[in-house]
Parts: sequence; structure tokens; C-alpha cells
Amino acid sequence: MAAVLQDNPPTFASIRFTVQLEGGMRAPLYNLSLASPMILSRYRKEFPHPTDPDITLLFSTRTTALVMLDKETLALLKRGEELEGSEALVDCGLLVADHAQEKAEVLDYLNEMNRQHVRLSVAVVLGMRCNFTCTYCYEGEKKGSFDMEQATMERLPAFLMEQTRPKTKRIALDFYGGEPLLYVETIKTISQQMQRLCAEAGLTYDFALVSNGSLLRPELIKELKEYGLDTIRLTVDGPAELHNQSRPFRGGAPSFATIVKNIRDCTGLVNITMGGNYTKENYRQFPQLFSELQDAKLGPEHFAKLRFSPVIQPENKKLSPLGFHSGCQSVSEKWLPEAAIFLQDQLSANGYEQQSITPTPCMVDRDDTFTIHYDGNLYHCPALVGQEELICGNIDEGFKDYHTQYDLQNWRKHDKCHDCIYLILCFGGCRFMKYRKDHTMDIDCKKSFLDATLEAFIQQDIKAQM
Ligand code: SF4
Ligand code: SF4
Repeated sequence: MAAVLQDNPPTFASIRFTVQLEGGMRAPLYNLSLASPMILSRYRKEFPHPTDPDITLLFSTRTTALVMLDKETLALLKRGEELEGSEALVDCGLLVADHAQEKAEVLDYLNEMNRQHVRLSVAVVLGMRCNFTCTYCYEGEKKGSFDMEQATMERLPAFLMEQTRPKTKRIALDFYGGEPLLYVETIKTISQQMQRLCAEAGLTYDFALVSNGSLLRPELIKELKEYGLDTIRLTVDGPAELHNQSRPFRGGAPSFATIVKNIRDCTGLVNITMGGNYTKENYRQFPQLFSELQDAKLGPEHFAKLRFSPVIQPENKKLSPLGFHSGCQSVSEKWLPEAAIFLQDQLSANGYEQQSITPTPCMVDRDDTFTIHYDGNLYHCPALVGQEELICGNIDEGFKDYHTQYDLQNWRKHDKCHDCIYLILCFGGCRFMKYRKDHTMDIDCKKSFLDATLEAFIQQDIKAQM
């Protein structure tokens, strides 16, 4: 009997145990005692090992732990036999004392997360000005000279401090635009206040810029670091040819070369993450991006993260002034699994870290994150700003009750979600996607996507570690 961990075979082993969420939240693994007989978790998937037929991969959809077990050991566990060293499987959430208790803990997961509230994470939209004309821009015709006013800017830091709780240790802002680097003075004014107020309250403060990358300059980055800049989140939509079609400068000039040069000039100064948005028609061309980055002497070591996501279809003509209609409307679209597996493979083949499988509660259901629009109105997701029916308060009067408006914990009214082993990996999916498609806040079920991708993602992960 043996579990397998590459060249070191202990009795049981967790080859990956990723239960830490952003903000330090740990997945629920409480009240388990080895004094009682342990049974295999309901929240598990079993997959074949990519190269060894004697090994089974056990993945916990509750904790995202992954272990490799030989088939004989797994058979003993299924018969309920007690095995030496099974504490590791308890730690991974794969052995539990009681299925009913396990389910109760999973159903309480979001509430537990909201009780933690260690990091207050807030998106701040500084204004709508932008120097790009992206074909799928969700701001659509709302773009323009709409900027945060002085009074909003002055009120905002105090409002943020009012949203902290006794356990809060850190306030992290994501500055959005338009293009946030068209609002440098506003960023400095808000950050200066935040640094002072956080220091007085014993909290840490930092911020990220969700930028198109065209205005990055080393001197500016160095200056903004003094104000708490931690990360730049950029978007590059694949290789130059594709990117220049979907994210040109206002006026139509190509932007790819400018962004790549700016990244090159700023590497080592700040964390840079890059996201790329693909469509059903163009994702197969994305690997060309890796060689173009390489030509610019940029590789995995220069990026804190590189991620690809499908473009979400703008809601209607009003929001899609350029007539874009290639966007994704639901996570259950049939082409998505193949695209996601293909791109994950390409990330790995080019030395980039793969996207890990983590619990993904929607920000809407979390108490420790929300969005402030440039006009001081509050929303619960940055992608939903400007939808007036989704305003859930403002920085002068605070939050109103938005339970019904956002259909909080929408999955609770669906029996299939209560019994779903993917609950922690889904929690009803993305409200924004559903809202864009059907104008409701109901679930966008991830089951077909997870059924079609999980095994491939896990096997890719194992191969990358071989
Ligand atoms: S609605 Fe979608 S995009 Fe917005 S926070 Fe939720 S999961 Fe994210
Ligand atoms: S929406 Fe679908 S995948 Fe998500 S928890 Fe419910 S049944 Fe599971």
C-alpha cells in the first residue's frame, strides 16, 4: 500500500494543497477528529493518472487538494478501513467524519468567508476617459469626460475606513478607468489620504492599476510606488495582429508595440500581471503571443501572472457601439472547455504558471469587496457599473439593503446547487455574465464546464510537475 509523490513515496501525500484564498481565508476543514471513523469525502473527483495506470488522482472540490493514491489503497479506503497516516487525507479534506457535517460546512462557506473580512478590497472607477477604443468595451457610449469630482475624492477615504471591521488588516484598492493613468493626480490624492488614515488605524494600504498599459513609464511607476502601487494589471488580447484589431488607440492606431515596449521598460519595478481576452474565433492564434513576447525579450519571469479569459458579450448595441458580437454569453457555451484546455496547455508549454483551480465566490456575495463608481455610487462588481438598477448605495449615505437587487447567494434557491459537489468552485457562477445575457441575477451554471475541463486541468498540472 502506498500513496505516490514523485520520487518520495510516503504513506499519504498531498502534492498540492491550495486552500488559501486571497485575504488569507482557509477553506473549511473544522471539527474533524481522527477519533471517529473517517469516510471518503463526497466532494471528491477521481481521475486516472496521466502516465501511471496503477495510480488514481483524488481531487477535493471542497479544498482543491490533490493527492495520488495507488488503487489498492483507494479500495481499502472505500471499504472504510482505517489506514496508518490518513491524517494527511483529513487535512486535505478527502477523509471526513460525517457527510452531513461536511455538507453543512460547505453550505456555510460564504458566511464563514464574510466573517473573516481580513482584507477590504475595493474597485474604484476614477472616470470614463480612455485613449483606447476596444471593440468589446463594456463602457460603450458611456465613455467620455466623466471624472470623479473633488467632493467624491475627498469623501472616499473616510468612507472606506468606515467599511473596515475589527479583523480588517489591509485595504487594497484597484483603480479603474477608462484608463486610470489619465487620473494620476486623483490616485495620488486618494492614496495619500489612505496611507495616513491606514497608518493611524494600524492597517496596511496598497493599490493596483487596471490599465491598458499604453501610458506606463518607469519614472511614473517609481513615483506611484511611493503612494502604495503594488501591481499593474494589463490586458493584451493575444498576438499583435489580434490585439491591434480589438484594442486600438482612439483613432485606430495599433497599440501592441507601445504596450510591449512599456512593459519592457518597467520590468522589475512593479508586479505586472497580464490578461488576454479571447473569442471562439481567435483563441487558436493566441500562442503566437508567446513568441512575440520572447522577441521583445519578455518571458514568464517578467510577469507575476498571465491569464486568458473569454470576452464577455456586451449587452446590446448601446454597449457595443462597434457592433462586436463574438463574445461569450455563458460559461456553459460548448466551445469554451476546448479553448480553456488549449490555452492552459499553451501557458504550461511556454513556461508560464498554470491557472490554479480555486474556490471562486462571486464578489457580489462577499462583504469585503465592492466597487465605487466615479460619481460616488456603489455597486458590487466593477463590470456592472453604470447599470442604474444595480446601484446599491453611495459613499455619502452608505449601503442600502441589496439582497434582492443582487439576488445574494442565488444558488441557495436551487436544489441542484445544495447537492452539487462543485459548489465551492462555482457558487452560482458569474452574475455579470447572466445579467448581460438574460438581465437577471440568477445562476450561470458551471457544471458542464467543470465536467469537461477538470480532469484535463488536473492532468496538465501533474504533467507540469513531472
Ligand atoms: S459578477 Fe462576474 S465579473 Fe462580477 S464579481 Fe461576480 S464573478 Fe466577477
Ligand atoms: S450553478 Fe451548477 S455548478 Fe454551480 S453550484 Fe449550482 S449546480 Fe453546481
